[in-house]
Amino acid sequence: MAENLRFRVVEEAFKKRAADVRVPAERPSEYFGKYVFDRKKMYKYLSKDVYDKLIDVIDNGARLDRSVADAVAAGMKRWAQEMGVTHYTHWFQPLTEGTAEKHDAFVEHDGKGGMIENFSGKLLVQQEPDASSFPSGGIRNTFEARGYSAWDPTSPVFIIDDTLCIPTIFISYTGEALDYKAPLLRSLHAVRKAAADVCSLFYDDVSKCQVNLGWEQEYFLVDEGLYSARPDLLMTGRTLMGHESAKNQQMDDHYFGTIPDRVQAFMKDLEIQALELAIPVKTRHNEVAPNQFELAPIYEECNLAVDHNMLLMSLMKKVARNHGFRVLLHEKPFDGVNGSGKHCNWSLTVLHSPLTTHHSPTLLHAPAPSAVAGDLQSVAKENLRFVVFIVETLMAVYRHNGLLKASIMSATNAHRLGGNEAPPAIISSFLGKQLSELLDSLAADPNPDHCMEKLSHYTPLSTRRGAGGEAFFDLIIDNTDRNRTSPFAFTGNRFEFRAPGSSVNCASAMIALNSAVAEALTSFRQRVNARIAEIADNPMFVTVPDGSPSGHTAKFHAIIGVLCEDIKTCRPVRFDGNGYSDEWVAEAGRRGLDVEKSCPVIFDHYLDDSSVRMFESTKVMNRKELEARNEVKWETYVKTVQIEARVLGDLAMNHIIPVATHYQSQLIKNVQGMKDVFSTERAERLSARNMKLIEEIAGRTERIEQLVEELTDARRVANRIAQIRERAIAYHDTVDPKMEAIRRETDKLELIVEDGLWTLPKYRELLFIH
Ligand code: ADP
Ligand code: MG
Repeated sequence: MAENLRFRVVEEAFKKRAADVRVPAERPSEYFGKYVFDRKKMYKYLSKDVYDKLIDVIDNGARLDRSVADAVAAGMKRWAQEMGVTHYTHWFQPLTEGTAEKHDAFVEHDGKGGMIENFSGKLLVQQEPDASSFPSGGIRNTFEARGYSAWDPTSPVFIIDDTLCIPTIFISYTGEALDYKAPLLRSLHAVRKAAADVCSLFYDDVSKCQVNLGWEQEYFLVDEGLYSARPDLLMTGRTLMGHESAKNQQMDDHYFGTIPDRVQAFMKDLEIQALELAIPVKTRHNEVAPNQFELAPIYEECNLAVDHNMLLMSLMKKVARNHGFRVLLHEKPFDGVNGSGKHCNWSLTVLHSPLTTHHSPTLLHAPAPSAVAGDLQSVAKENLRFVVFIVETLMAVYRHNGLLKASIMSATNAHRLGGNEAPPAIISSFLGKQLSELLDSLAADPNPDHCMEKLSHYTPLSTRRGAGGEAFFDLIIDNTDRNRTSPFAFTGNRFEFRAPGSSVNCASAMIALNSAVAEALTSFRQRVNARIAEIADNPMFVTVPDGSPSGHTAKFHAIIGVLCEDIKTCRPVRFDGNGYSDEWVAEAGRRGLDVEKSCPVIFDHYLDDSSVRMFESTKVMNRKELEARNEVKWETYVKTVQIEARVLGDLAMNHIIPVATHYQSQLIKNVQGMKDVFSTERAERLSARNMKLIEEIAGRTERIEQLVEELTDARRVANRIAQIRERAIAYHDTVDPKMEAIRRETDKLELIVEDGLWTLPKYRELLFIH
């Protein structure tokens, strides 16, 4: 055999040292946002009048008129040119999970035979990038189906290399969304409005609510040389074969361990560049699996957080290369060890209310009693508001648990869910014992006075000394414990949606969640209104002014009445037990939760009547958009499995079988040689083990050949199916299982064949060299 590439790349990988990192002389707080046209720069480069108008657009959704757009563009251009920028691009998020950009230079003819640098308001606010090759699910099939990108002023423009990047939405000529950002913005609008309407039941001067998102990005790093010697990683982002290494994550010695030098340099470089782009990265650590890591920023407004995650993923890929690594964002690059997710920490905040003055403005947070000015009645009121937002979020998750699962499902994430610490493919919610008990006790006795009494005593925090009294100070304990396997867990002041995969645009999950919560809050408010009217009409009801310990107005009676109903309704979605057990699958089915496992079938939930109604009533997407998106989802599913099947077939036939047969020939030669030196009987005895191996190799290679043929046939049959949904199901049901079967054979061969002949870097090398 030719020189074994595997040994060369392993040797080279061992020699690599940490790369030098350009560390700015300034402090992070000083270079933060260096490449972003943030408010400070807007103030500097725009006139006071233009600045005020732009801020009004950003903060209050005011309309942007043309003259303001021209003035903003001129200011941006001036700043960009000072930074050495020559090009600009509309930066958008098509349905491919990546971002798209088409760069144009600032130059224009000056009409006198020369060139001038030009950038008008028109170019800033709208463009027609064509971009007709992006998936649109049939929306752009006709020749007049143009695609437009339009500026999103709420996400600031930024500079990458020599290009000014302008965050935009991407929509069709007829107004349908072709991207993630347009529906995300619509869903944010819907949930902010619905949340503010519910808030106004509690506070007089609520002006606005905000959605926050803090994502946690998990990823693997693999040495570039080793990566290039694995065609499967190169083509599909995951290993399609590879026997588990003897040691992987059993010892938990990688998790939170010392970060290796080369990796540390990569992280430092990445963080500096992220901070320069105003991505507020904060946390970094080793994850559970070997060579797995995590990066998390401080949470931000949801739309901005999504943009920042998209930007960070492309930055990671770029920076990794400078450090001789490849970053794997795939949800399950390696069998047998943890996969990677992107936990989405989601919360609602209220801006400009009395709440902001006395404690955390997070609506999903129960204030500590000491933080609330006033009597027990005020504490009860704050806690009632807290419980309402918790329960209505649960109502959303309960009503749309199948849809939420569809929103995070993909061919790649399907490999991760349900194993090695990842949440199972059933969406339920974990609240922790204390909050769970509070909800149950409210629902068990919905008498308003009793409920207010219980709410006045609820406290989210307690202080505790270390078990042995060894702590130097009291620890403040959040009264929600942890359940790592819960897909949607309450963690004190936010919900953590743990099911999204590491490679995706988190907008997909956020669109579904925001819209579902908007629907739940709107329905809550409507039912409360109806009940207030009912109660107020009832001559038996005596209105007592708010504030006296025993008296509640019609409003609080109404809120508590609807709340207790909802606590009962959404009870089935609450689950605090082991999400991996078979009992849970059976139990969840009985509770009416979606337990479907097949990815293409799960996508159907986007077209459930309840989903279409929800998306249409919140004005986030119409049926046509939903149908188009599902086409794209099924199409992407088919292509992903198709590529994997091709790569696997190729690897099995052109790498595995030749290597195994080569080894087999060596064994045969040895057996023959034995006969030359020993008596027949002795030779047979001494060659017994080799004979067994020869047979095993023959058996396994034969089966692989057979399976690869079946795999090709299964693909051929599936490809003939005209309906994309049915084709995707065929890929899931008939192509995918064949790949698993092939893998079982190749992984066994890896154990048998002499190590020196094996050409593909093994798991122990991919996972432990850094
Ligand atoms: P974990 O223990 O789950 O790793 P971290 O403390 O690292 O959690 O935080 C995870 C993410 O949650 C961070 O991005 C953090 O900023 C974010 N986060 C914290 N509080 C909130 C909140 N109220 N709303 C949304 N995200 C939040
Ligand atoms: Mg987390």
